[in-house]
Amino acid sequence: MAKKTFVGGVHPYEGKEFTEKKAIEKLPLPQRVAIPLQQHIGAPAKALVEKGQEVKAGEKIAEASGFVSVPIHSSISGKVKGIEKVNHPVSGRGEAIVIESDGEDNWVETIRFEENYLELDSKEMLERIKDAGIAGLGGATFPTHVKLSPPPDKKIDTVILNGAECEPYLTADHRLMLEHADDIVAGLRIIMKILNVQQGIIGIEDNKPDAIEVMRKAVKDFNNIQVYVFPVKYPQGAEKQMIKAALNREVPSGGLPMDVGVVVQNVGTAKAMYEAVAYHKPLTHRVVTVTGAAVNEPKNVLVPIGTMFEDVVAFCGGMKESAGKIVMGGPMMGLAQPNLQVPVVKGTSGILILEEHEAHVPAEDPCIACGRCVEVCPMHLLPTTLQILVEHENYTEAERLHIMDCIECGSCSYICPSNRRLVQGIRLGKRKILEARRKAG
Ligand code: SF4
Ligand code: SF4
Repeated sequence: MAKKTFVGGVHPYEGKEFTEKKAIEKLPLPQRVAIPLQQHIGAPAKALVEKGQEVKAGEKIAEASGFVSVPIHSSISGKVKGIEKVNHPVSGRGEAIVIESDGEDNWVETIRFEENYLELDSKEMLERIKDAGIAGLGGATFPTHVKLSPPPDKKIDTVILNGAECEPYLTADHRLMLEHADDIVAGLRIIMKILNVQQGIIGIEDNKPDAIEVMRKAVKDFNNIQVYVFPVKYPQGAEKQMIKAALNREVPSGGLPMDVGVVVQNVGTAKAMYEAVAYHKPLTHRVVTVTGAAVNEPKNVLVPIGTMFEDVVAFCGGMKESAGKIVMGGPMMGLAQPNLQVPVVKGTSGILILEEHEAHVPAEDPCIACGRCVEVCPMHLLPTTLQILVEHENYTEAERLHIMDCIECGSCSYICPSNRRLVQGIRLGKRKILEARRKAG
């Protein structure tokens, strides 16, 4: 039987072989962390600590400054050196709480296992998730408690856990499924309870047969949870594409998964939710895939949030002289970084270091109207037309052609024989439209 999928998409080089067989290793305690106040979509957190203050690992050091915001916790124990402007992997520059380690790794005493966690009421579960500072670990970093609080008129009937990890090179979710399958399933059951949902699906691409087997074993006692296998195709892990492939439901233009009765969460986020609800454990660490031909020893590493890329890459044997480009995330949706002096944030799924020759960006040629970008666009957009409209600052027409539905997957740019900077142009257009909307109030 043909496996379920979506229309469009591309097949870039997978690059998973660098790290897919590497078990997660714990990074030795860093000497210093710089924990940014903005690590999630929404309002930045507000610092609760001051220079000179001693903190423990797991201690809340910044509070949420609104409903669409999350608190931040220290990932090490030590002394606050100050609140400083540091490099930020997403915004370029931002405020961070800088903490120097005491070399002890002392944790708050509140982290403890509660046997009956599944008997807690949904409100208490949600409260613990909110207090733990969890934001989508797949890279989107949307506050998880907000996603789990749909308005009463949106009836959710299915939760999908996203284990596709379709972005090339990244293997953090793959390893989490192999090494922490039961915790992930426990997280899924918590989400299903919060949303009062009877159907749970775990979606995995068929390039991870070992993870499929392990997850199938982990769900065998739960009749309402199934593992779905999807063919390898980028961007299979995008929310709307996963919903289409799993349930044949189409999220409407401008809509959200909840409009078709679905909530999608990443497998790593589910594990973090389990730890928050069952252990009162805040989100202080994440698994980062450190990979690429220019890394000496590619690995999957459990990293305290706020650790500099430099320290994480040093643990992986450092960079080769042939290094040409540093990316946070994968090659399709990742963000290029000027150097390794940037901290790991909640959305850092990977640190990819490409060799000089791989990083070379060919010159743009004129569009030859081949239509390939249109064929591969998973959102059924007209990438070349949208790019031209943005170039001409015709944002009204671009909006009419649904530019805001672009998920910035980069499939159009990847396939274009003329190397048109399609996704870059579209991203710029979306930013201009959002700025104009904000100004108009
Ligand atoms: S237009 Fe947007 S959604 Fe479509 S392929 Fe390009 S980046 Fe992806
Ligand atoms: S893929 Fe490139 S060359 Fe082909 S139509 Fe799209 S923009 Fe033009």
